[in-house]
Amino acid sequence: MCGIVGYTGEKQALNILIDGLKKLEYRGYDSAGITVVNENLQNLKAKGKVKQLSDLSSQNPLTGNVGLGHTRWATHGVPNDINSHPHLSNDGKIALVHNGIIENYSELKEKLQSKGYIFHSETDTEVGVNLIDYYYKETKDTFKAIRKTINDIHGHFAFGVIFQEDKDAIYATRLQNPLVIGLGKGENFIASDFTPTISYTKDFYLLEEGEIAKVTKEKVFVLDEKDIEKQVVKYTVDWDIEAAEKGGYEHFMLKEIHEQPKAVLDTIKDNLNEQFLAEEVIKNANKIHIVACGSALHAGLVAKPIIEKLAKISTETYYASEFRYTNPLINKGDICIVISQSGETADTLAALRHAKKEGAIILSIVNVLGSTIDRESENTVYTKAGPEIAVATTKAYSAQLSLLYLIACRLGEVKQGLDKKELLEEIKSLPSKIEELLKSKDDILEYAKSFNYAKNLFIIGRGLDFAAAMEASLKLKELSYIHSEAYAAGELKHGTISLIEQGTPVLAIATQATAEKTISNLLETVSRGASPLIFTNKELNLDIDIKTFKLPTTNDMFMPSLTAIPLQFFSYYSAYIRDCDIDMPRNLAKSVTVE
Ligand code: GLU
Repeated sequence: MCGIVGYTGEKQALNILIDGLKKLEYRGYDSAGITVVNENLQNLKAKGKVKQLSDLSSQNPLTGNVGLGHTRWATHGVPNDINSHPHLSNDGKIALVHNGIIENYSELKEKLQSKGYIFHSETDTEVGVNLIDYYYKETKDTFKAIRKTINDIHGHFAFGVIFQEDKDAIYATRLQNPLVIGLGKGENFIASDFTPTISYTKDFYLLEEGEIAKVTKEKVFVLDEKDIEKQVVKYTVDWDIEAAEKGGYEHFMLKEIHEQPKAVLDTIKDNLNEQFLAEEVIKNANKIHIVACGSALHAGLVAKPIIEKLAKISTETYYASEFRYTNPLINKGDICIVISQSGETADTLAALRHAKKEGAIILSIVNVLGSTIDRESENTVYTKAGPEIAVATTKAYSAQLSLLYLIACRLGEVKQGLDKKELLEEIKSLPSKIEELLKSKDDILEYAKSFNYAKNLFIIGRGLDFAAAMEASLKLKELSYIHSEAYAAGELKHGTISLIEQGTPVLAIATQATAEKTISNLLETVSRGASPLIFTNKELNLDIDIKTFKLPTTNDMFMPSLTAIPLQFFSYYSAYIRDCDIDMPRNLAKSVTVE
């Protein structure tokens, strides 16, 4: 959610900022704006896409070598030009871009109003910038002004600040929201993630919570949360710029679907001999808690029965957003597996902190090294999916699944003396089977077209097929805005079958030992007018003609990795034929940094 980019160097800032904002679009936003420093702080803002801002900037090319850019995902006040960032202090001498929420903004606003400050927007951010101004006037010190401000704030934030009186510098600070500093030659950057700056530099300083950095073109100076100077340790990313570009594909999603064999292969290669956790920790664990959101949660739902089968440890998967409110019984020494592509998901982070406080041992799975979840976990393993730009995940989900299979095998090895050799061979064969499935896209396009009338759709399955159905259903909702429900196949007849009418599409996933039962449940819906489609790797003896997509086969436990591919295409093409914004579906954000 929200994107921040800042530049200080020799070049004109404007185009670098606009270009950076385009790279951050995938995070989700509803308006955009920039400040470029010249004699004054010059602002341009526009509701809507970065394209609108970019058109505005070509009519009004702001000149200057230092600036801030922001894509806003509105939390306080509707998306409009006034509420867009950057926000200026009343005297126009301080600019602020903000990702996050100032929870006590009304109290702070009243305090500032009583001192004569006037507010033009509905945002919490305008309170932030005037508070910085208030403390700057009091202390005449940029660092102290920011420190006092963040001490007053309840909530979470990433801030980029420019003071007109120190106009070559960008100040940066963060609490719970992401912000990194790109270290260039004769130029430096701030950004919400690596993507806007990797074409200029792959070297970063990963700003820690509560630190305040002063970034000029020659230097990055950092104070830790106790205001003691901190050494700037360089971290180099191995992502390349092509990874964050479409490379000839019509959409990032389509490109990322095609990158799955590599994402899965790289993830397996890197983690095949990984221990994940100390042997003692695994031996002593009596329970595993998996916390995640969205597709990562669905990867967790696949992992649960596999871990229980291989390692015989009771395992529970929770919505991260519900975890703290359901009194999970966590005992010291339990293992908590935390899954988040971005490593910044606020709900997942909150769940991690809760599990840690209760004495669980954390094993996190993230795709972004140096992300907050990575940094707060005593054990982290990385999916090697590279940057994922499309809001709807494909390759990160597939990489998470393969990593979870490896973790399940390792837990089984330690807990049950499992000989995992054969299973690992099977896991290693997944990338080539996924590659094979990529050829199926034209068939799937035809299926999607045949359901183009649909407003409601069901995807049914049992066991692991049900978990796979949940992921498929989420993807379809996200992308095509078709209402879809994943249903445990056997459960339909206990109520929901009443929704089946003539032509209701029902997709059945039947790849497990329960396949025949699932198909019986599908036939029950067909008898009531449903329009069916089957995804299976089994030979089914059907006495009626039902469209069937034939999947390759692997060990039943790993079938969700194969089922995912045609169903991703199904969502992609369902959205495509409905002319939906595939890479940036309405109302969604890639990295969900609010609870
Ligand atoms: N809370 C701020 C606003 O509504 C920042 C939102 C964001 O993170 O984009 O303007």
